[in-house]
Amino acid sequence: MSIVTRVQDSEINPFEAVMSRFDIAAQKLNLDDGLYQFLRYPRREITVYIPVFMDTGRLQVFTGYRVQHNISRGPSKGGLRFAPDVTLDEIKALAAWMTWKCAVVNIPFGGAKGGVVCDPPQMSSGELERLTRRYTAELFEFLGPEKDVPAPDINTNEQIMAWVMDTYSMHARQTVTGVITGKPLELGGSAGRKEATGRGLMIVAVEACKKFNLAPQDTRVVIQGFGNVGSVTAQLLYEQGFKVVAVSDIRCGIYNPEGLDIPRVTEYQRRNRILDGYPEADRITNAELLELPCDILVPAATENQITSRNAPRIKARIIAEGANGPTTAKADLILESNHVFIIPDILANAGGVTVSYFEWVQDRQGYFWKESVVNERLGDYMTASFHEVVKYSETHNVNMRIASYMLAIDRVARGTRLRGIYA
Ligand code: GLU
Repeated sequence: MSIVTRVQDSEINPFEAVMSRFDIAAQKLNLDDGLYQFLRYPRREITVYIPVFMDTGRLQVFTGYRVQHNISRGPSKGGLRFAPDVTLDEIKALAAWMTWKCAVVNIPFGGAKGGVVCDPPQMSSGELERLTRRYTAELFEFLGPEKDVPAPDINTNEQIMAWVMDTYSMHARQTVTGVITGKPLELGGSAGRKEATGRGLMIVAVEACKKFNLAPQDTRVVIQGFGNVGSVTAQLLYEQGFKVVAVSDIRCGIYNPEGLDIPRVTEYQRRNRILDGYPEADRITNAELLELPCDILVPAATENQITSRNAPRIKARIIAEGANGPTTAKADLILESNHVFIIPDILANAGGVTVSYFEWVQDRQGYFWKESVVNERLGDYMTASFHEVVKYSETHNVNMRIASYMLAIDRVARGTRLRGIYA
């Protein structure tokens, strides 16, 4: 393997990505060595092997993970993703990101993440159900409203959350709605949860525009990814009067410098399941999309989209990270020297877990809030957190990413010191 490839490998390793930022923030906070060691390791990494009878009658064994990174401030919290390229390193990184994300928005959770190596589009609903149920059963003693609370992530949805809830409840011999969030409304889900990540992104993007005196009608937005996060962000920014000039799905992007009619794009995608062929725009590649002239870029697809290779050509003034880990640490340095204002993932996409927190609270209360109440409270959390991070970055003279990490690590460190380490 050449040195060049090795450098690239380390640049895109998600665990390195989270740890390199953690190290910078920990150093700036003067974190003592013991606490540094403690927070660097996850609390627990669980691997499960999941036998599933496929529709053909053949038995197939899948590998699944749940990493619980930290529980200092409350039960661990974080999504469950189903994808063919899931690795333990990736899940470890995403679990740590959840700890910092929950602390940035100051909700009483630690961080965790789960993943199963599988390819959902190639599986039937029955196969997915059996996979989900056996994964949940294997993890039964590690999950619970006071222990660890999963939620949707890539390729998992309300139905899968319902199966987790039911399987857990059958083993517990009682209905336990608070074991998982992102459930259907009929089963203790929260109004506004599905749109929450996109809504949170819209809120911080609007706050950033106020900071830079950008009027919505003069602000061009480019969004990579048109799944739950990207499409809701596009719709809400469009409703606020922003000019959404390009969006993309896994196959390609569509670009219209005059602005896209997002409701029409959504309708086209709903009918055709793809964006390709949308008539009122030019077809571009995902790589081209990231480098378009625009004011706000929202990477809302997956990890490692902005690297040292394309960062010098990014023209956006503001990047609001919808995905977890879309920008590498090397790219951060280039973007910083080009004065790009980054609203980092652990702040920008925290709307999802914030409304998960509201869902968990509502489940425990057995009393459900109106969507307007959920959205208003989400607005309060996101706006306050955005300004807190801006203030922190100005006071400590660090960029927004490092400020978010410092704020989060400081909160978790304080909680840990107060509890003490039971060693
Ligand atoms: N998967 C989402 C995230 O990465 C939501 C997690 C949650 O609601 O627990 O933030």
